[in-house]
Amino acid sequence: MNIAFIGLGNMGAPMARNLLKAGHHLYLFDLNKAVLAELAAMGGTISTSPKDAAQAGDLVITMLPAAAHVRSVYLNEDGVLAGIRAGTPAVDCSTIDPQTARDISTAAAQQGVDLGDAPVSGGTGGAAAGTLTFMVGASAALFDTLHPVLAQMGRNIVHCGEVGTGQIAKICNNLLLGISMIGVSEAMALGNALGIDTGVLAGIINSSTGRCWSSDTYNPWPGIIDTAPAARGYTGGFGAELMLKDLGLATEAARQAHQPVILGAVAQQLYQAMSLRGEGGLDFSAIVKGYQKPS
Ligand code: NAD
Repeated sequence: MNIAFIGLGNMGAPMARNLLKAGHHLYLFDLNKAVLAELAAMGGTISTSPKDAAQAGDLVITMLPAAAHVRSVYLNEDGVLAGIRAGTPAVDCSTIDPQTARDISTAAAQQGVDLGDAPVSGGTGGAAAGTLTFMVGASAALFDTLHPVLAQMGRNIVHCGEVGTGQIAKICNNLLLGISMIGVSEAMALGNALGIDTGVLAGIINSSTGRCWSSDTYNPWPGIIDTAPAARGYTGGFGAELMLKDLGLATEAARQAHQPVILGAVAQQLYQAMSLRGEGGLDFSAIVKGYQKPS
């Protein structure tokens, strides 16, 4: 299939590589020329604009940093909607607010284009391994069209409902994740300060009612889980700046819905303080440092 792929960063580039390996022909666009050259060497064609890429694609996929980039890539003069043919399906995999996802989809529908949202979880490791989870907000027909291609980049392809619901699922999950990581940090630090062996404490939590992904898979305390970022100085993994971005999306969506997210707002401020300390590039589990004496 001819696929227009726009946004080839930490996530988009490995996703595009998997589509090239699966035998698709990709029309590529990004502002970063180096990544375009690398993917062209794998067989992709470099496009001159989102419009140019969309004109050539039988499917359009975008993977961009934030809502402002998504708006410009779709709606600008040389954007996707200026080039896409009516009837061509499109999907935005960026993490953005649900309202922008709906607005862009409405603009696309006016041109006979069915555009869905499919944000992902699984991080850069999952993007490289082709094991991402896609949370898809789309009509049933568009979901069926997208499924085989998304399955070449991911393992779990979940239809969440109509357009925008993929983004809702993503921001609600990350709201909880951001909060649970702080809760585990607090419990581990308190146990340590009170004198229990932290390995014993983690074992108790992970076989008791406090167990969660932040404790049993990604425990922020060093020396508990060999594969967690805590074991490698909080490098790699899911950056605190990205968590901060997702908590911002959640609190803003909550404001629009008049829905309180009390712990989410506190969590947002704790990651904000982490960012101010210059630690925004570390994995988000480094939030635990705020509970430890500086070494
Ligand atoms: P990134 O910043 O590494 O990549 C974004 C890419 O978009 C860059 O290559 C940039 O040059 C390109 N870009 C920006 N503006 C553009 C424009 N106008 N036209 C064309 N290209 C443009 O970001 P990422 O880590 O790949 O994340 C992409 C999305 O996925 C974000 O919404 C992020 O929140 C989400 N996400 C990231 C992760 C992760 O672990 N990195 C995990 C899940 C979801």
